[in-house]
Amino acid sequence: MARYTGSVCRLCRRENLKLFLKGDRCYSDKCAFDRRGYPPGQHGQRRGRKASDFGVQLREKQKVKRMYSLSEKQFRLTFGRADREKGITGTNLLVLLERRLDNVVYRMGFVNSRAQGRHLVLHNHFIINGKKVNIPSYLIKVGDVVEVKEKSRAVQAISDSMEAVVRRGIPQWLELDKGTMKGTVKAYPVREDLTMPIQEQLIVELYSK
Ligand code: SF4
Repeated sequence: MARYTGSVCRLCRRENLKLFLKGDRCYSDKCAFDRRGYPPGQHGQRRGRKASDFGVQLREKQKVKRMYSLSEKQFRLTFGRADREKGITGTNLLVLLERRLDNVVYRMGFVNSRAQGRHLVLHNHFIINGKKVNIPSYLIKVGDVVEVKEKSRAVQAISDSMEAVVRRGIPQWLELDKGTMKGTVKAYPVREDLTMPIQEQLIVELYSK
């Protein structure tokens, strides 16, 4: 399936949730969701019909997929892996999504959105444990050290994001040394670390049909 290239703010309005897809703008009074918090389109302001169980499950899946800027295929593959792992499938899914390199560089504050993380990872701006890695879906492990390549420290997008990192904060499973632009993965996230309003069980139900 082709990558979505339309307005990402429409996605927040569709999912009725701020997905934080546009970096700094999401925290400003220009946020489209704050200004027009109803679904996009001609009938967006109409009172909606009650959604079916399938509709509710589908929306939850779309929400998480869009939050992590993934295609349907990438999301489905991640779900398949989560299902094969031991433990609770829904939690496994969220942990796998969090462990993606494009998400980790976002969580560490090196970039201001996961989409930007994906872009900069593809362009070789990051090093893991001293080695170049340019795969956005790369899954980080406990103890991994992620750093901005020396030559990339002056990249405007990265320095701007580092300025804004204080406002966003760093999750407790990660550690950041702002001075050296190095982050360490202290542990894998646990369910309580993931504070976005996600009902992962609905996604499991959807894909179990
Ligand atoms: Fe969503 Fe950010 Fe756009 Fe607001 S500014 S609608 S949070 S992408």
